[in-house]
This record gives sequence, structure tokens and C-alpha cells, in this order.
Amino acid sequence: MPRQPLAAETRRFTRRWAAALAEAVSPARKPADIERVLTPLVDDLVRAVRTDPLTSDAARDVGMALVEANFRNARSLNRTITLLGTGLIEELGESLGMDDEQAVVSVAALQGAVAEGFSLALRSRMLRERHTTQAAALAAARASESRRRTSEARFRAVFAEASAGIAIVDRHGMVIEVNAALAEILDRDDDACTGLPIADLIADELPAKARANLAGLLAGKTSRFRTERTRTSADGRSLRLDVTLSAVTDDDGEIDFLIGVVVDLSECRALEAQLWHEVRHDELTGLPNRKLFLERLAATERLAGLCYVDLDGFKSFNDGLGHDTGDRLLIAVTERLRQVANADGVVIARLGGDEFVLLIEEDGTDADRVTHYAERTLDALAAPIRIGDDEYSVTASIGVVHTSAAGTSPSELMRAADISLQRAKALGRARWERYDPDRGAEEATKHELATAIPLALSRDEFVLDYQPMVTLPDPVVSGFEALVRWRHPQLGLLGPDRFIPLAEQTGHIVALGRWVLEQACAQARRWYDEFRDVPVVVSVNVAATQLREASFVADVLGALHAAGLPADRLQLELTESAVAGDTSHALAALSELAAAGVSLAIDDFGTGYSNLAHLGRLPVHTLKIDRSFLSPIRPGGPTDPAHDKIVAATISLAHSLGLDVAAEGVETPAQVEALRVLHCDSAQGFLFGAPASADDATMLIAHRIAALDSA
Ligand code: C2E
Ligand code: MG
Ligand code: MG
Repeated sequence: MPRQPLAAETRRFTRRWAAALAEAVSPARKPADIERVLTPLVDDLVRAVRTDPLTSDAARDVGMALVEANFRNARSLNRTITLLGTGLIEELGESLGMDDEQAVVSVAALQGAVAEGFSLALRSRMLRERHTTQAAALAAARASESRRRTSEARFRAVFAEASAGIAIVDRHGMVIEVNAALAEILDRDDDACTGLPIADLIADELPAKARANLAGLLAGKTSRFRTERTRTSADGRSLRLDVTLSAVTDDDGEIDFLIGVVVDLSECRALEAQLWHEVRHDELTGLPNRKLFLERLAATERLAGLCYVDLDGFKSFNDGLGHDTGDRLLIAVTERLRQVANADGVVIARLGGDEFVLLIEEDGTDADRVTHYAERTLDALAAPIRIGDDEYSVTASIGVVHTSAAGTSPSELMRAADISLQRAKALGRARWERYDPDRGAEEATKHELATAIPLALSRDEFVLDYQPMVTLPDPVVSGFEALVRWRHPQLGLLGPDRFIPLAEQTGHIVALGRWVLEQACAQARRWYDEFRDVPVVVSVNVAATQLREASFVADVLGALHAAGLPADRLQLELTESAVAGDTSHALAALSELAAAGVSLAIDDFGTGYSNLAHLGRLPVHTLKIDRSFLSPIRPGGPTDPAHDKIVAATISLAHSLGLDVAAEGVETPAQVEALRVLHCDSAQGFLFGAPASADDATMLIAHRIAALDSA
């Protein structure tokens, strides 16, 4: 949830901004003074990001205010734009309550608006200066004969001291005199400027229309003429000049001479061009960013389609190896993508984080250019990437969309790309998937379900059921497994299999998992209060993504603390795959939790890597044998004899490693009997109780149902 930023956060950001500006201006200004100027601007910025920066005038006003406060050089603006790109989210990101993607879009919009305001203000300020110069010069020149002497002196003063360039031109259009400012703008001696036609002085070339306007002015048909022209200076720089020529007439209305006022807009224009670039490109990789990509997408004709590329598991890579290595990896990936695309004029953009997109136009020769590029992208990433002394394998999932299948509206294309990307991820990653409109409806529902999870959380649409876990040989309730359900307003009650995999793919599992933990701990605390001397454990499922999250340990300990639940009343269920492979981070997290007293179980054991020796080295306490090993070959019939052997072997091996074994999916008394013989430690299944509401679970403890077996 967004909250008001704390005073300390805004102050920190203000201080960083002031420091950045202090280095950008000379003569130096005191940081404290700069901070005073910036404080109200930071408030405006925060307001702008929290509303909609794309439509907010507030951000533009901030850019204008900078110029008014005399931060007028390109460096001031550059520093500001850079700081907005990094510092704002670092200092205030949390309080803004946005996900990464929103943040990237909002910050880019904010940078654009600030830059726009800045250059508008700068331009209008320069032109204002020109205006005053011109007014003063004309007033002095037009003064009547009686005041000629004083006004002559005043004119000279304006002429000599103006920061704008001034030229005095005779009635034939030849330059009589220029002031020092104009000579400096053109990088020429005053002498080299005089005697030339004014047209040659102010422009490399004067187009026909401007020539006609100048002729009209000299013929007395108009009194003023303004134009903006390009002029190459003596040292070869390309200048952009704003020129106004005004006629000064005598008492009979005949032209006496002309005054030309010239303002150098070059820096302003260069700045605008630079800003245009900066606001539309990604700082890290130099690629076009989302803003430019969307502009191109809207403007492109003959679009064949796009490839939406997302690196697999990049988040855990970043968390594990640090952002610095993550950044270098992104740069290396960008290089590979450039090789794929550059030669053919395919546009690549970075949409943020580890997401890239290739925009592909038809070329009339290759009927399926889009898929072709998806293939080539996968190939380009196949060789490991070397960073320093280490090599890393990077794979990507790619959503392929053809305009023939999804139409050409940018939002439809992006949606279709996202749907096919999610499919590529779900089908095992490191692959591309093409958008198929026939499958669209079902996938769109999935996609919508996945994106609706945060809203559903805020609307309290999730509930937990609790399934009893019992000890063996005598089945005594020892705790409950918390199992999440979604009371969907349109689709009814959804089981976890419908949305947990989607939540994992999108990362929403982290927030959902946190909620489950908090609820389950709170419920366990109620049981703790109500049944002091019956130890009731609550068991919570944890997805691999959650375990990789840097804040995982803190989340668990935080939930225990918030509920006031002793750690030994909580068990976490992890899957084998979550703890297999590169486990250094997972191992550290699990060890810390185990040391705090939390019990750890491996869920669905037997369906994954099944490396018992490896599990024995982890701080795990219990294996939960997957229910597929207990289910009968036919309903009511005997179980698979091979499965019986696996269960027997697993139990004895686990015991030799000091692990407890729980059996899942126990439905018949015969299964209980078999498990007893094998010294299985505990069990769970419909025989002892299906998942039920917290109230039902509470009643079950109250009745202390001790034995349901037939023995
Ligand atoms: P699981 O952790 O293996 O949970 C046990 C599942 O087996 C539950 O399905 C339960 O209803 C079902 N079950 C229990 N006893 C029996 C039985 O005797 N026979 C049969 N046929 N089935 C039985 P459910 O509730 O649909 O949960 C499915 C899976 O969803 C869970 O499998 C778990 O992996 C996942 N899940 C549920 N809640 C959460 C959660 O809060 N977080 C995460 N990450 N995953 C969750
Ligand atoms: Mg489980
Ligand atoms: Mg299970």
C-alpha cells in the first residue's frame, strides 16, 4: 500500500539532489541554500509520481522552477535527470508503493516532464532577454532629435552591454556595425562582420520565404521580421540563431536603418536533442527504453510482429550475485541481442529489468521473420557469458506475436506478447511460444487471474483451510497444514492448483505467501492460547520463489513475532526442487530458521530430484512422502508393489539420516496399518480429515479425536 513518504526519506533525497546541483553550478552556492530551493520541489515531485506523471503539470513546473532558481546550465539538468532515474526510487520507492515496472514507467515519464519544463523555461527566458534588449535598443534609436544626445548614450550602453547580439544594418541590408556579443556568438572579429549582407551574417542559407520577408522589410512593407536559422561559426560549430530584424524609420516614415537582435539558441537546442535522447533510452544498456519503444510501435507501418524476451530466473541471479554482476550480465545480453538485430534494422528495446523486446518489420522475403528472430535470440544466448573469471549460463523465454494473429494495436500486441511469454515460462522456460488467438480465451483468463492477485489480496479474497496432521502409530492430531483458497467474485472458490503456479511465475507468490504466513501464524497463536498443553503446529507451504527472496527469513520471523507465536509451533513445507541445485542462499536461510526453532519439511517427496543424501545435509526435519506413492492402482485396490517398496526404502533411509517421515494422502485404514508396520512417524489424508475451515479445525482439537483407525 502506498503511504506518505517519511520526512526523513524526502530529506535524504533533497540532500542528494542539492549535492548533485552544487557540483553543477558556478559560482558555487551553499548546499543549505540549494536545499531550501529544492524542498518544495521534492514535495511536488512526490505528488507528481503518486498521481499520474504522464499528465501531471507539476513535474513540468519543477523543471521550470529550476531555471527560475538559476540552475540554467545543461549540467544542472543532466544531474537532475540522472538522480531522478536512480535516487528517487532508492530513497522513496517503498513509500510510493509501486512495483518495479510501474516505477520504471513513472520515473521515465517524470524525467520527460521535468526536462520538458526545463527547456521550455530556458527558451522563454532567453527570448525574454532578447525582447528587452530589442525594446531598449529601439526606444533609444527612435528617440526624437531633442533627446538624441542622451538617447544616443543610452543606445550605446545597450549595444555594448547586451548579452544578446545586436547588428545595425543600413537600408540596403548591409551590416554597418555589430556589438561584441554578436561577434562572440559568430566567433568572428567585429570587422569581419561589417560590410556583409545581413542575410549572409545570420544564416548559411536563407530560404526563399525568409528572403521575401527580408525584402518586404527593406521595402518598408513590414516593420519586423523574425526567423530561426542555422549558421556555421568560424570554428566550424553549427549554431542555431533566433533573429529579429526591426526597421527604425525617420520622421517621414522612411527607413533610417535596421536593428537586428540575435539570440544563440544552440545550447538550448542541443540540450533539447540530448534530453530527447536521454528520456527515451535506457541508461545501463543505451537501448531504446519503453517510452521510445511504444512510440515506435505506434508509428511503425508494415509491422510483422514482436518478440518479448524475458531472462529466466534473473531475479535470483541478481539477488545471489549482486546488482553489479547483474548489470554486467544485462550489458552482455544486450550485446548478444544487438548482434541478432542490428544488421537488419530490427529495433531492440529494454522495457525494464530483464525484459527486452524486438520489433520486427515485414521485409517481403521471409514469411516468418518473427519466429526466425526468436530462434536466433535463443541461439545467441546459448554460449555462456563470461564476466571476470566466471562464466554464466543465461536462458530466456520469448513470447512471439504476429500482427496477423493479434492485430496492430500496441496494447493488444503487448498483451498477446505477455500471454505467450507466460506460456513459454510455464512450459519450462528457455524457449519461445507463439501467440495463438484460438487458445487466447483460456490463456487470457489465466493471465487475468495472475494479474488480479494483488487486488484480490487487498480485497481479502483469499482464505485458508486447515488439514489435520496426525502422529502414528496412534493417530493424535499434532497440527494442521494451511492450504490457501481464492474466493473469486466471478469464478467461485478456486483451489491452489489454479493460481499458485501463476503466482509463482509472476512473482505475486511473494506477497501471497507472506499473507498466508501471517494468517497461519495468527491462527496458530489462537490455538496456542486456547489449548495451552496440546502442542498444535501449523504447517505452511513455501514456494521456491519465496525461498529465494532476500527478505524470506525476515518475513518468517516477522510473522512469528507479529503473532506472538513460539517458533516451534511453525513448520515450513518446501519442495525438493526448491532446495536442489544451487543452494547456498537457500541453505543459509533454512539454517537460520532452523536455528530459530522453526521445523522444516520436504513436501511431495519422491516427485522431484529424490537425492536423499543431499537432503540429509540440509537442516530439514521431516519428509512428506507424496500421495501418489500411496494411491491404489485402482480405486479400492492394492497399491503398486513398486511404490510399496519405495515407501519402505524411503522410510528406513530417512530414519538412518535422522529424518522423520510423514505420509500424505492417507485414505484407508489399510494404508495406516501398512505405514505403522514401516514405522512411519506421522500421516495426513482424508481418512483423518479433509482441509476445512479454521473453526472446524478448532473443534477437531477440542474433541481430541484420537483414533479413527479400525484396529
Ligand atoms: P500439498 O502441500 O501437497 O497439499 C496437500 C494437497 O493434497 C491438498 O490439496 C489436499 O487437499 C490434498 N489432499 C490431502 N489429503 C488427501 C487425500 O487423502 N487424498 C487426496 N487425493 N488428496 C489429499 P490442495 O489444497 O488442492 O493443495 C494443492 C497444493 O497447492 C498443495 O499441495 C501445495 O503444494 C499448494 N499450496 C496450497 N496452499 C499453498 C500455499 O499457501 N502456498 C504455496 N506455496 N502452495 C500452496
Ligand atoms: Mg504441503
Ligand atoms: Mg504435499
